[in-house]
Amino acid sequence: MSRVYNFSAGPSMLPEEVLKKAAAEMLDYEGSGQSVMEMSHRSKVYDSIIKGAESLLRELMNIPDNYKVLFLQGGASTQFAAIPLNFMNGSGKADFIITGQWAKKAFSEAKKYGDVKAVASSEDEVYTYIPKTSKEDFRSDADYVYICMNNTIYGTVYKNLPDTGDIPLIADISSCFLSEPLDVTKFGMVYGGAQKNVAPAGLTIAIIREDLLGKARDITPTMLNYQIHADNDSLYNTPPCYTIYICKLVLEWIKNLGGLEKMKELNEAKAKMLYDFLDNSKLFKGTVKKEDRSLMNVPFVTGNEELDAKFVKESTAAGFVNLKGHRTVGGMRASIYNAMPIEGVKALVDFMEKFEKENG
Ligand SMILES: *Cc1c(COP(=O)(O)O)cnc(C)c1O
Repeated sequence: MSRVYNFSAGPSMLPEEVLKKAAAEMLDYEGSGQSVMEMSHRSKVYDSIIKGAESLLRELMNIPDNYKVLFLQGGASTQFAAIPLNFMNGSGKADFIITGQWAKKAFSEAKKYGDVKAVASSEDEVYTYIPKTSKEDFRSDADYVYICMNNTIYGTVYKNLPDTGDIPLIADISSCFLSEPLDVTKFGMVYGGAQKNVAPAGLTIAIIREDLLGKARDITPTMLNYQIHADNDSLYNTPPCYTIYICKLVLEWIKNLGGLEKMKELNEAKAKMLYDFLDNSKLFKGTVKKEDRSLMNVPFVTGNEELDAKFVKESTAAGFVNLKGHRTVGGMRASIYNAMPIEGVKALVDFMEKFEKENG
């Protein structure tokens, strides 16, 4: 069996140890005589899986007791509507910072439900930087301020959070979930689709400060009402059972590695290797303002579209897959999430060096 190095932005690599453990437990989970895929979500054995996943997540992310952890479905994109329905219900205003397509989509969706304002945007330079804001930029009566923390398509990340004063900050952390420690207390809510860094597709995790719950609009569909899911410990209806189980295995893997401080150290070492190469290369260059570079998604170009296409083709043949940039930006993008081993990044850099020699 030979496995490729998968640089996909999502769904993306999972740790090999996790896949092996899931394979070993496929037919008989811990003596239950069933696969986790076959279990009732109301069974005792499944209860230990979902509760175990929540308590591991709380432990690793240091989530305070006044925050609810919800296991949801519908992807990050469903929350673009759920967030205004649940929280845009005081003044009916929400302020957004537009740092890419995902923030823009969240903004457009929220527009259907109230008075939204794009306070800042980096669209003028193809989202290659994080715009600076100050507290005065936000409307003091806004129900929340919304950001996308790590911009998967463009490769930027917030290194310093915007100062929103007392206004709750809500962040989409889909592509930086569990990549490094995060101070949850700085947010009213963080959430993300699991398929980038946490589990296979099908699971969305939301972490919400309790005092923000219970204010959903009457028209909010039951399945989009966070209070309903909180009151039912994420078991109002059938949750994505198997994905939550894999999530638990991934959390165990992170814990065994040494937790999120260690994860950050590993991710920084991987990203540094690739960025250092890009900064010294005469052929390849990174596309993002240095101070805003993501640890997770690294876009780069040669400056020549034909050469970009040649690189994508040859790298794929050599076992480095999904390096093609997002269809809206072109070029290349290496997504180097938690599960990408440092050997994978080293091998990619070696391959890029060789390509540069042959084509430079
Ligand atoms: C992938 C991604 C999304 C979309 O997630 P879905 O689960 O497909 O809806 C939203 N935001 C960010 C930052 C992403 O990376």
